[in-house]
Amino acid sequence: MTDAASAPGREARHLALNQVGANGQARIEKSAVLIVGVGGIGCAASQYLAASGVGRIVLCDFDTIDVTNLGRQILYGPVDIGNSKVGVARQRLSACNPDINIDSIAERLDDQALAERIKKVDIVLDGTDNFATRFQVNDACVAAQKTLVSGAAIRLEGQLAVFGPNYAVSPCYRCLYTEADESLESCAGNGVLGPVPGVIGSMMAIETLKICAGLEVERGVLRLYDAASSDFQRVAITKRPDCPACH
Ligand SMILES: [Zn+2]
Repeated sequence: MTDAASAPGREARHLALNQVGANGQARIEKSAVLIVGVGGIGCAASQYLAASGVGRIVLCDFDTIDVTNLGRQILYGPVDIGNSKVGVARQRLSACNPDINIDSIAERLDDQALAERIKKVDIVLDGTDNFATRFQVNDACVAAQKTLVSGAAIRLEGQLAVFGPNYAVSPCYRCLYTEADESLESCAGNGVLGPVPGVIGSMMAIETLKICAGLEVERGVLRLYDAASSDFQRVAITKRPDCPACH
């Protein structure tokens, strides 16, 4: 929908943007992304990616909607409790932008199924809440040489990093975490301030759109968001020579 002769559409503000323009928007519309985890982070990221016209969005989450999700998972409401997250998310995102393709996978993918899915997309977003899945998604991205946009949020803290796709030089998520860090798992036990995953999910959408549009992004850098002080910290991630995934 980038015909200059047509009336302004949803992409009008991107077309007016020097950094995106008609070329960048056309690239965005041809892009395919996989979003693993449609919780607080995935809800925010998917809404901006859908609204921005990313041509194909694949949502993957086996979970159903619980009342305790509603404080931060802003695609869902009380009427959705008990229903599949990806089913409801797909409906809402399609209503937001009927011109894009949205696929949903309401199951936990094994390594092979995940690899198949990753092969067919340009970028993978990980907004899951546990290290087992994060490591699985990371390893699949490294194997397929795909860009991984990774985000997490807990308490008043958020983090974001972009890895790959050239893992001969880029560090990976396992270079950052060699083993599960329990203090970073379970929003149920630790709590999380509602909009923190929204900030991280929105930033993941920004990095993803920049990559889709052909803009530069900084890879292998961890950005830590501290909602208590409203500050960001930037930490370079070192590629580990003994990393089990990207070495
Ligand atoms: Zn690594």
